[in-house]
Amino acid sequence: MPIRKSSLTGTKQQSEPLAPPLALSLAVDEFNALNAGSVAQVAYRDLFCPHADLPRALRNWSEVRGVQLRSLRKITHERGGRSQKVLFGLHDGYAVESVLIRRHDGRTACISSQVGCAFACQFCVSGQAGLKRNLLAGEIVEQVVQLGPMVNRIVFMGIGEPLNNYEHVLKAIRILRDRRGMHFPTTGITLSSLGIPKALVRLREEHLAINLTISLHATTQEVRDRLIPGARKHDINEVIARALSWAERHGRIVTFAYLVLPGINDTIADARRLARLVGKRRGRVNLMRWNPVDGIALKLTNDRSLGLFRGVLDRAGVPVVVRDTQGRDILAACGQLWLRDLRGAPV
Ligand code: SF4
Repeated sequence: MPIRKSSLTGTKQQSEPLAPPLALSLAVDEFNALNAGSVAQVAYRDLFCPHADLPRALRNWSEVRGVQLRSLRKITHERGGRSQKVLFGLHDGYAVESVLIRRHDGRTACISSQVGCAFACQFCVSGQAGLKRNLLAGEIVEQVVQLGPMVNRIVFMGIGEPLNNYEHVLKAIRILRDRRGMHFPTTGITLSSLGIPKALVRLREEHLAINLTISLHATTQEVRDRLIPGARKHDINEVIARALSWAERHGRIVTFAYLVLPGINDTIADARRLARLVGKRRGRVNLMRWNPVDGIALKLTNDRSLGLFRGVLDRAGVPVVVRDTQGRDILAACGQLWLRDLRGAPV
């Protein structure tokens, strides 16, 4: 199978940065504890003010309490069609990116969960520089706040593997959803993951009304190991079983994302295996086209092959849709802007 020429060495994760606590990392009970013994001049929901110019009362409160209200700095943004991609600088010099996608009934924020990524997927540039560090809950929440008040859907499809930053990602989701704060819509959050089996076992027991997408991209262990080197120790059958078990437990459907790559995973035999693996009770399939990236030697599938592949799933009764990649004109594959501008190094 065609692969990138460069070697994909993962970087060991570094410890979290030392900085003043972030206001947007505070759960409501932590906010209350911080204000214990005095009457706070601000309410919890004030922390999520979407304006760049924050109210004076909030600024005074943050000074007294020694917390940082905002920590992301917009470095650049690019527009293209219905999407806008923003590069956010972090306090330690790293950067992450988020994409805002306009829909007729609101906006979708595609956000990052880590700086870089350890999984080194062959079709993604984010893994090229390895994992630098996890994002804090407040850095995750702030991407949504800064993308504006029209955001009513969030997808964890930016840089990083969200289940590899489990604690901060789940805390961020709880903060976003808290009705005393941002009160984000109950079903508006989609966690997109490669499917780390141990993390899926934990996720199954969480009481969170979220949507789950598993990036499968292969129907055999061998092909998946080559496409996603960082997930070699994850048995493909266990990944699928854990995800379906999550869906069963929560009465939901789990989406399996499948990037159709000519000569790698697009045969009729693949389609038949995929139908068998996913089943038609708790799973559905999103077929996706490859979003071309300089330096990665993968090919774009054509309509005929995609149609044949889809036909097998349709006939097997597996719900399937073909997803158009948003923002091809602004390099919207995760990590592209980040890598192109900064080569994954601190600014
Ligand atoms: S596709 Fe996702 S999991 Fe894979 S390297 Fe990119 S960011 Fe990491």
